[in-house]
Amino acid sequence: MSAPTTPGVVLISGGSRGIGRAAALRLAAEGHPVSFCYQSDQQAAELLTKELDDLGVASLAERVDVTDAAAVRAWVTRTEQELGPVTVAVASAGITRDKPLLLMSDQDWQQVTDTNLTGTANLCRAVAFPMVKRRSGSIITLSSVSGVYGNPGQSNYAASKAGIIALTRALAKEVGRYGVRVNAVAPGMIETDMTAVLTEDQRGDALKHIPLGRFGTAEEVADSVAFLAGPQSGYLTGSVLQIDGGIVL
Ligand code: NAD
Repeated sequence: MSAPTTPGVVLISGGSRGIGRAAALRLAAEGHPVSFCYQSDQQAAELLTKELDDLGVASLAERVDVTDAAAVRAWVTRTEQELGPVTVAVASAGITRDKPLLLMSDQDWQQVTDTNLTGTANLCRAVAFPMVKRRSGSIITLSSVSGVYGNPGQSNYAASKAGIIALTRALAKEVGRYGVRVNAVAPGMIETDMTAVLTEDQRGDALKHIPLGRFGTAEEVADSVAFLAGPQSGYLTGSVLQIDGGIVL
């Protein structure tokens, strides 16, 4: 009989809300200590900390801007000092600033690519190094169907999410031989604050393209994150798991 293993530390960017928050609770329910960062909503972070306490897991909440590579590195170091080695990292922090490209400001292009793509790369670099040294780890990035198909009005977001797929696959090839897996999830339309800004017309249009006839839930994405985090996906790396109700953009 093999000895029972202790669930390792999970680190999640953008953990205070939506998919990141659902992933934190899903993995905490399996006994994983959770370190999460958030951009500004301290109340939401305190609420999640309380819920993680109630689940009986250790946690760490940090206000970290993922575009700041040094701050991300410091957060990872603090997590390892306080909670232990990071075994799973989930790069969920992301934003939208939708506009047709011809009307898009330089700032909207820059903010979205900085947060989504560079922010994800910052997290991957900070966690991959200690994982490679330990010869084990699982990194999960958040892409989007917009990054797979392209979505009009989202050229900045689509480009950042396509970049995340390329980053995921390239990094998977670089670190696979050191026992570190890197996979992406590419959600479709999920009920979170990010899609709460859609008008009724936009929701109706989106639903016409979803064979399952509804938006997904953050918990359904979290289930796939948990699958990619754990041993059931031990032979998966460089994959892109679309969780989209069959959407055709
Ligand atoms: P959300 O808006 O509910 O949460 C986003 C989180 O990211 C928040 O916790 C916020 O604090 C954090 N964040 C934003 N900018 C940050 C920064 N600079 N530094 C640190 N944290 C920052 O969004 P969500 O729906 O939960 O989305 C999570 C991820 O899933 C995003 O990467 C998003 O692009 C992706 N995604 C979402 C959907 C959807 O339909 N909701 C679909 C496809 C992909």
